[in-house]
Amino acid sequence: MEANLKEIYKSMGIKEDTFDFGETILDSLKERFEKIDKVAEYNQLRVLDAFRKNHVSEACMLGTTGYGYSDIGRDTLEKVYADIFKTEDALVRPQITCGTHALALALMSNLRPGDELLSPVGKPYDTLEEVIGIRESKGSLKEYGVTYSQVDLLDDGSFDFEGIKKAINDKTKLVTIQRSKGYQTRPTLSVARIGELIAFIKDIKPDLKVMVDNCYGEFVETIEPSFVGADMVVGSLIKNIGGGLAPIGGYIAGSKECVENAAYRLTSPGLGKEVGASLGILKDFYQGLFLAPTVTASALKTAIFAANVYEKLGFSVIPNSTESRHDIIQAITLGSKERLIAFCQGIQSSSPVDSFVNVEPWDMPGYDSEVIMAAGAFISGSSIELSADGPIKEPYNVYFQGGLTFEHARFGILNSLQVMKDRKLL
Ligand SMILES: *Cc1c(COP(=O)(O)O)cnc(C)c1O
Repeated sequence: MEANLKEIYKSMGIKEDTFDFGETILDSLKERFEKIDKVAEYNQLRVLDAFRKNHVSEACMLGTTGYGYSDIGRDTLEKVYADIFKTEDALVRPQITCGTHALALALMSNLRPGDELLSPVGKPYDTLEEVIGIRESKGSLKEYGVTYSQVDLLDDGSFDFEGIKKAINDKTKLVTIQRSKGYQTRPTLSVARIGELIAFIKDIKPDLKVMVDNCYGEFVETIEPSFVGADMVVGSLIKNIGGGLAPIGGYIAGSKECVENAAYRLTSPGLGKEVGASLGILKDFYQGLFLAPTVTASALKTAIFAANVYEKLGFSVIPNSTESRHDIIQAITLGSKERLIAFCQGIQSSSPVDSFVNVEPWDMPGYDSEVIMAAGAFISGSSIELSADGPIKEPYNVYFQGGLTFEHARFGILNSLQVMKDRKLL
């Protein structure tokens, strides 16, 4: 019997008109989705090639305990990452607790007192403000005598080349470039644009090192920032590259020198990469990496589908329904508190885990307004799984990302719409 999608959607609360609307949108996206599938296929083969070349074996799935000397699984995984990113070396560890930690590690280990850090693409991700010392914090780079300078993007989103040239001085040692827009409204940078920027910077000062915050960017394109001159690419394993299976971790892939500096900082001078037991976690790191290209494709399709659904309904969406994608985050301006709550509750009740939880706005520490968050994830806080959140304030933007399978995420998006319709908010 042919699968009757409409029937099962109906039995799960999605009315016929909502389902049909989704079908129409989906039909219009066929060509775009085919292109995404091609990118996924290309990256799948790149990943497979790295596994084969490095002789990933059954023994690599086992872990070590204690000091973790000669951990073949860990060491091989780091070679696999280095091959995928075309870098000399990589550090991929469960002891790196999250993306912020990986970025802080890369910065703190490659900067020394008296050095200056430059961001030529505007304000970095929120959590880095305390790492750098833009907001006062214990143990910040600022406290250690590392200064910071920033050049904002121009109003049209282009690089302020003149400003950047002026900002580079004798002290400038490291440049940090954030690929994803994160939760700002600037466009996300394509790898090609990052390459242009790196070429410009290295032309002015060839020995400058460049770090790219690669969070949410991995496998969205067929090339990575390390292919176009970045000395380090850094990210979290509970986003794209962990494929939804890695339960913790971060990575730094880059030049031998940069990775060595990071390893000495993560463990200890003298010990570096030699220690750090992998415990029982490697199978999930390998398998997640293996799945990451197709999982990223699902998350991309989800973002594009949602942008098209909500744009068609008259909402403003960033990125818009047609523009090219360089990360997996989608923002929708919902315009009212009730819609924002309905959207998040619709996503939550579509989740495989905690679907029965009724999410509500709450006063989260560190925010100047209430926030609502929806996440019914296997891995707590994993944002490669379908998740949504937004501050309860004008213009009532919801930010969402992820989707381990497009089949699930499509239901989630339609359910968010159905909840809004049922509450007569459209
Ligand atoms: C998520 C993210 C981070 C921080 O990662 P955490 O794992 O949340 O600490 C940094 N930069 C960007 C662009 C991100 O998307």
